[in-house]
Amino acid sequence: MSDCIFCKIANGEFNTPFVYETEDLVAFNDINPKADYHVLVLPKKHIESLNEVDDEKLLAKLMMGVKAVTEKLGLKSFKTVINTGREAGQEVFHLHIHVLSGNIKGV
Ligand code: AMP
Repeated sequence: MSDCIFCKIANGEFNTPFVYETEDLVAFNDINPKADYHVLVLPKKHIESLNEVDDEKLLAKLMMGVKAVTEKLGLKSFKTVINTGREAGQEVFHLHIHVLSGNIKGV
C-alpha cells in the first residue's frame, strides 16, 4: 500500500537495515525500543492486521521468522506481541510481530 510506512521500509525506501530478510518477510529494529532488543517481524505483503490473515503458510513463515531472528540475535528468553486493532494498541496497520528481550518495559 503506497502510504504504509512498513511497506515503504520493506521496499527499502528508507535504507532501513534489516535484522533478517526472506522472500516474504523482513525484520528491523523498532524505532522506539521498549527493551534492549525490540525487533519487528512482518510480511512484505501489505496485510492490515491479524484480522485480515487468511494464509496459514504466511503465519507459519512469520513465526519461523521470529525464531530465525531470536536465533540470529542469540536470544533465549523473549516476548512476542501482536497488537490487533486500535483499541488493543495497534498503531501501524501492517501486520507485525514485536519481539522483545532484555529489560522489557511493555508494548
Ligand atoms: P503497534 O503499536 O503494534 O502498531 O506497533 C507499531 C510499532 O512500530 C511501534 O512500536 C513503533 O515504535 C514502531 N514504528 C513506527 N514507525 C517506525 C519506523 N519508521 N521504524 C521502525 N519502527 C517504527
